[in-house]
Amino acid sequence: MEGMDRTRTRVVVLGGGFAGVYTAKYLTALCSNRQDVEVELLSEENYFVFQPLLPEVAAGGIAATHVVNPIREIVPRAKFRCCSVVDIDFEAKVVLVSQGEGLELVRVPYDHLVFGLGKVTNFSFMPGVSEHALCMKDLADAFRLRNHVLRCLELAAIETDPDQRRALLTFVVAGGGFSGVETVGELAELVARSLRYFPTISRAEIMFKLVHAQASILPEMPAKLGAAARSVLERRGVEMLLSARVRAASRAVVYLDDGRQLHTRTFVCTVGTAANPVVKRSLMQGGFVEAELNGRPIGVFATERTLACVARPGYWAVGDCAGVPHPSGSGLCPPTAQFATREAKTCAKNILAAIDGRVLENFSFKALGILASLGQRQAVAQVFGIKLTGFVAWFLWRTVYLSKLPGLVRRLRVALDWTLDLFFPRDITQLQVFKQRSLVVHHYEAGEAIVRRGQVGREVFFMLQGQVDVLADASGATLATLGPREVFGERALLEDTVRNATVRASTPVDVLVMSRADFSQLVENLPPLADYFDGLLRQRSLSPSDLRGEAPPLSQSA
Ligand SMILES: Cc1cc2nc3c(=O)[nH]c(=O)nc-3n(C[C@H](O)[C@H](O)[C@H](O)COP(=O)(O)OP(=O)(O)OC[C@H]3O[C@@H](n4cnc5c(N)ncnc54)[C@H](O)[C@@H]3O)c2cc1C
Repeated sequence: MEGMDRTRTRVVVLGGGFAGVYTAKYLTALCSNRQDVEVELLSEENYFVFQPLLPEVAAGGIAATHVVNPIREIVPRAKFRCCSVVDIDFEAKVVLVSQGEGLELVRVPYDHLVFGLGKVTNFSFMPGVSEHALCMKDLADAFRLRNHVLRCLELAAIETDPDQRRALLTFVVAGGGFSGVETVGELAELVARSLRYFPTISRAEIMFKLVHAQASILPEMPAKLGAAARSVLERRGVEMLLSARVRAASRAVVYLDDGRQLHTRTFVCTVGTAANPVVKRSLMQGGFVEAELNGRPIGVFATERTLACVARPGYWAVGDCAGVPHPSGSGLCPPTAQFATREAKTCAKNILAAIDGRVLENFSFKALGILASLGQRQAVAQVFGIKLTGFVAWFLWRTVYLSKLPGLVRRLRVALDWTLDLFFPRDITQLQVFKQRSLVVHHYEAGEAIVRRGQVGREVFFMLQGQVDVLADASGATLATLGPREVFGERALLEDTVRNATVRASTPVDVLVMSRADFSQLVENLPPLADYFDGLLRQRSLSPSDLRGEAPPLSQSA
């Protein structure tokens, strides 16, 4: 907490999406002449993603970097901290974040706290979907999807097995809401426009399938527009599998609950969300009220119409992680960017009103319109009550979203992308930049710390060569010495705690580093490994000093 001016009222905003960024933006604008209020924004990435344009990024119509803005550029007057929110200590009024390369746990104090953490994807109720589906939530998803589709075309172009070829040329999207419909429409355009470069693939071989649980798509729109969108997509060869749900997925098959099996190598899942873990923990431990829809809790904060969390003064929630009463008086505001940005404005005004002891205002907003792009210069829209379809709706869609993009430079870049796209074919370069290896070897020279006491544990380490000392802390006594074929760093992962010892190389060291996700998968699914680590934890907590020769017990093992 060093260096923080505690004479100023600190407003800490969590999340760098529409909710968080716009709350910080409005707050700093309203506070431009005030010295008594300090605004700090905390987010995992240093950029803001304009999600409504992600399907176009996936389809290669817009360059990936053109739909993101550096947060520091959008909110130059707020402090910005690129970090991961781990927990909140409500009594001490501090946010616990892990930050920096060493993932230190840092305490960020607040007087007012704004939750703008959104929701997370959750496919756990559909076996295999987490492992085999592509998502459409962030920039990496869109980028990955584009490259995956182009790879399928490359593979199909030289595939001689008819079944494999059919699977490579079948594209399945689950979810008939905005993101599913826009994704299937844009992908259909990408494939159609790429085929000129793939003479061995005929148009008749391409299959797109949209799986949707309800009887009509785009339920957020008037039924007439949903039906219009359906007929546009069907004319372009998208098969509608309505009133059907995905039950499970494997690497090659999507299984529907009505028994149908879709053989595909491309499965995009746009359904399935869950509470952000920080929101979930706060709801359980922070005395907040959880919002309900049709009598069921939905993993978001219940707020007043002022955006204040119910019965928790000083706490505010905005956007997808907030259950804000709809200004019409019935139900909750929809989880859309349109609402999140308007809620942010009211929230910012009300935080200042609360600081100044003024009366808070209620959120009121009437959506101006609702638009969905279907690709290939087609869209459906309802604006000021007028229903539009086809090219006019598509033109309007582009104009509206262009005007909403933050920053003139990004707007110009997107406008240029769109203009070039009118005259030139799509770029079919398949960029293989996601060649991730889950196991990597790190080298350390003698004296370097590999993990430090107090850091957040994200990895486990298997010793390959050299020796390390396990220390109570950086300057403390040596608790143990470890060498080849030994492991450290497991406790913080298995017990979900911070590192409680420092491990330092005493000679040049090579360690095999495994991520938390991979380690958890292995331990959860290989019982002998789970038993091994159980035993190791027990030994290291309880064993006598003969555990490792003359080494003292590893009661403080990392
Ligand atoms: C493909 C797609 C198309 C869409 N199209 C439209 C559209 O046309 N019109 C429309 O109005 N809406 C649309 N939406 C919905 C809209 O994008 C969301 O409603 C909006 O993004 C919600 O904003 P948010 O800030 O509440 O949440 P998010 O955008 O999810 O932002 C959450 C932020 O919190 C950060 N965060 C989360 N956990 C942590 C943590 N532990 N530590 C630090 N930071 C954290 C994240 O990094 C992120 O920056 C679309 C959504 C998608 C996915």
